[in-house]
Amino acid sequence: MLLWTRRDCFPMTHQIEVVVGSAEKQAWFRRSLLAWYERHRRDLPWRGERDPYRVWVSEVMLQQTRVAAVIEYYRKFLQQFPDVRSLAAARLPKVLAAWSGLGYYRRARMMHAAAREIVKARRGVFPQTAEDWHALPGIGRYTSAAIASIALGEPVAVVDGNVERVLERLQGRPLSGAEAWQAAGSLLSKKRPGDFNQAMMELGATVCLPRQPNCGECPVRAGCATRGVLPASQQVARRKAEIAYGLNCRNGSVLLVRRPANASLMAGMWELPELSREAVAAHGNGSLSLRHSITVTDYSVRVVREAAPANAGGQWVARKRLETLPLTGLTRKILRAAKII
Ligand code: SF4
Repeated sequence: MLLWTRRDCFPMTHQIEVVVGSAEKQAWFRRSLLAWYERHRRDLPWRGERDPYRVWVSEVMLQQTRVAAVIEYYRKFLQQFPDVRSLAAARLPKVLAAWSGLGYYRRARMMHAAAREIVKARRGVFPQTAEDWHALPGIGRYTSAAIASIALGEPVAVVDGNVERVLERLQGRPLSGAEAWQAAGSLLSKKRPGDFNQAMMELGATVCLPRQPNCGECPVRAGCATRGVLPASQQVARRKAEIAYGLNCRNGSVLLVRRPANASLMAGMWELPELSREAVAAHGNGSLSLRHSITVTDYSVRVVREAAPANAGGQWVARKRLETLPLTGLTRKILRAAKII
């Protein structure tokens, strides 16, 4: 016996099986999704791009970063490093400076290392399969599959946070990592793998949103077992923290400190000297306050002018040099707020 949902279209048995269902149901899913993608995809600088280097840059920048934040960085990065040889030839601090403000700087370090490997060990020839891309530094399963499917047309599925959420809602239950990859692979369009993968990500980014999925606009709602937020899904708990920095200016220069080369986060990057609670108390309230989020922590940031502790060390850096230095994203934000850059 077939069970019908309140609303329409597909019998309930179809709805819970579209991800692992018959070839017919999966073909319907692909058709619906790709037709929607052709009409509704956002016009982004990397859309339609087939050059492996450019696809690689966009995919790495988009990891855990909002599209709106990436667009300008993508354009500028390609102006500065238009191909893999120019990236490989650049010094790492220059690459980090171009990445400054985008966050997750390991991505830039790994791209730089992989570019050098492509140029030196592979004589500038890009890998031709997802498996070969995966062998390069910093290129994981997602990135290798994204590059191979979009630039090379290899039929490999991708699973990122957006795709995983869509798949779980379609299926009506949380999926393990292996299940999600398997489900994505079974739905993938073998004829248009690059478009299909981008369509799945686009659906997750613009319609099947984390908190409020817009199911009324969804092209595959007839095959969705959830049509809303999964009851079991939980938001990651966010942490709140306070931090303070000293902003010291002298003769057109700003006092900065460099993070240790072996720091686990943002190694070798430049930032303002951090202030202790006592130093903040001694100098009264911050002359500037702002908010900044890193991964799951929301920081309340105080910036106190002329309040670096005497033993902070550091270096006076001319304002005109600031744009060329690998600054941490928060430091760049503070300097912009203070109208120093
Ligand atoms: S119907 Fe709603 S929950 Fe289901 S895939 Fe579409 S947007 Fe997501």
